[in-house]
This record gives sequence, C-alpha cells and structure tokens, in this order.
Amino acid sequence: MPHRRRRLWRCAVFACLAFEAVPAPAQPPAETPHQVTHRLQPVGEDSPARLLAAAGIPPEQAAPALAALSPYLPGQRLRPDQALTLQQDAATDRLIGLALEPEPGRLVTATRDGAGWRTEEVAARAYRRLALAAGAIRGVVVEDLRAAGLPAPLARELVQSLAQAVDLQREVGPRDRFTILFERFRDAEGRVLRDGAAVYAEFHLSGQRLTLWRQETPNGGEWFDAAGRSLRRAFLRTPLESAKVSSGFGQRRHPVLGFTRQHQGVDFAAPRGTPVFAAADGVVAEAGWRSGYGRVLRLTHAGGRETLYAHLSAIGATMRPGTAVRQGEVIGRVGATGLATGPHLHFEVIADGRPVDPARLEAVPALRLEGPQLAAFRARQAVLAAHLSQLSPWQEVALAP
Ligand SMILES: [Zn+2]
Repeated sequence: MPHRRRRLWRCAVFACLAFEAVPAPAQPPAETPHQVTHRLQPVGEDSPARLLAAAGIPPEQAAPALAALSPYLPGQRLRPDQALTLQQDAATDRLIGLALEPEPGRLVTATRDGAGWRTEEVAARAYRRLALAAGAIRGVVVEDLRAAGLPAPLARELVQSLAQAVDLQREVGPRDRFTILFERFRDAEGRVLRDGAAVYAEFHLSGQRLTLWRQETPNGGEWFDAAGRSLRRAFLRTPLESAKVSSGFGQRRHPVLGFTRQHQGVDFAAPRGTPVFAAADGVVAEAGWRSGYGRVLRLTHAGGRETLYAHLSAIGATMRPGTAVRQGEVIGRVGATGLATGPHLHFEVIADGRPVDPARLEAVPALRLEGPQLAAFRARQAVLAAHLSQLSPWQEVALAP
C-alpha cells in the first residue's frame, strides 16, 4: 500500500513541477537519488503546518522548512488554490524540499542542504499566445467586449483609444460586430499568467468596416489604421472636458463690442475653473494678459501651428514661455477675464500665421508610420492576418516570442 501511494505521488511530480524554467533547486538534490514528491492541496483556507502534519511530517522537520518559506506566506495561510509541494527522501521519509506558488507563475522552493534550509524564487517561463474575442455589439461596447472574453482592462483601453476616431455612443446597428486579437501569457501547464495587450481590432459599424492594429512606439503602444496612421489626433478638437460650443468659427456679431467681425476661434461655454488642456504637444510662447483676451496662454506646435486659450481665470504656475507641454496636460482654468459676457474658453488655432477653423485640424493624425517603422508594421499585419484566418472565437494559438 505505501508503495502504491508513492507511485501516485510520483505522477503528481510531473504535473506540478513541470515548469520549464525551474532550475536545479526545485529538482531533487543530486546526492539523493531516491525521493518522492507529494502535492498537498489546501481544503479551503489552510495552514501549511496543518497540511504538513496531516501528511505525516514531524513538527521538528516541518518547522525549519516553513520558517524558510514564511516571508512568502503573508499571514502564514494558504489559499485553496495554493498547493504546497513537498519532497521526501524515499528511504528515510525525511523532508528534503518544500515548494509553494504564491501566485501562478511564481514558484518559491525551500531545500535542505548541509547548513539548513535555503529558499529560491523562480518565475515560470511564459508562453505567448494569441487569443480571439469576437461578437455582436448589442449595447455598451465595453460590456460586449468583455462578454466575448476580452479582459476588462483591455476592453476599457480599447474603447478609450477608439473614442477619438469612432462614435461608439451612437445607436447600435443590428449587424454591428467586432473581432479582437489579444495576447495572453500561459505557463507550461497552460495556466494563465497574465494578459498582454490587444493587438488587432476590427469593427463593423453601420455597414462600415474599420480595422486597427496596435504597434509599439517610443511613447508606448498606439492604435493605427490599415495605412499606418495613428488613431490619436495631433490636435484635440475640444481642449476641455464636456464643454459645448457657444460660438463657432466665422462671421458673427461680437456680444460685447456690438459690431460684426470675423470670429477667429471657437468659444466653449464651461463653468469657471474648468481645466483647460493643451490641444497638442508644444511649447508655451505667451502666458499673461492681453487686453480683450484677458488672461491668455499661447502655445507653439510642430508644423508652424499655434493654439491660443483666452479669458482664462488662471494659468498653470509652471506655464512660462519656453515650458514644454504634452497634449492633454492641464495648462489653465476657464474664466471670464477680458471682454467676456460669461465664463467660457476662447480657443484659436493658428496655421502659418492665420487663424483657421480648429475642426480643420481634427483629422491630422498624431503619428504616421514611415520607412522601417512602416515596414515592421506591414510585416506584423501579415502575421496577425494569418493567425486571424485560423482562429475561432475563444480559441488561442501560440505566438512567436
Ligand atoms: Zn471667442
């Protein structure tokens, strides 16, 4: 009977210690050719001491081993999914090794050597997989993506990135659907270690097909259209959150001065104190007072463009000529300084010295892949397309590292 039990334990060895990256300490010590391994599964939340005692390990052997593992066991409790693996000398039944996974993919081993117990932490080798999530858009897009198997953080990130290019708030069409490819990392046993990024997204919206690829750039991962144009726009159309246009670009009667003239910008009605964002990456060119404009901030951008923000109640303390700003950074607050009938932001875009309608810059992508970057993008498109043709929803395929 003991012999039979040991054979079963040996079978368990290969299941639980089959990590490819587990180095020597997790393996039987060389000077002990005969040992048995036993996997102890906690019943509910359990104590490792109780598990070892139940497996017949005398307390004087268990205690030093558990002391060595204790830094990795907060509260000295095991969760139901945290198995403890023990190794015993086959001849003497003496405890010679103990292994614990604090979380999937992390293995901590304690091994007995001459001087006492020695611990080592190793990471399981992660295998990169490509997974497919596909389905119909029925209501809230983030929820539809999640229901199709796309992890929540990836679904949120994708919808946020799309917001600038696609109106996902509009009414859902009966045939609207999506296909998403995303990375997933598993260990050698197939357990999920973590999710990677979404790498391809295809949307069918009101009969239109939109395909997007994610590519790493010096600024991090970004979404690109089929031609390699960034989904991110070089200029924010609205440099504040949830504001409504109170006066558009073009001819109008000035509300304070009373005569008709060209309105050189766009007015956004917003409560006093509303944060104002830099519409694009740039440098502060002017920060101060300009009669009718009140408190004003002007930024210069690449390509001979400028943006101007007027009637501000406050300008960011660090906003001095020469300060570099990033798109979306808060640069000031909405106010009614200068000639203004009420709190609003007067926003101007200047291209080659002339005011232009900000809507005209709306479509300028923040980045356009070129040269070697574009070649890499094309190669990746081909690889992903090949995988896509083989995958069904909820399926995965191995991906080259
Ligand atoms: Zn205005």
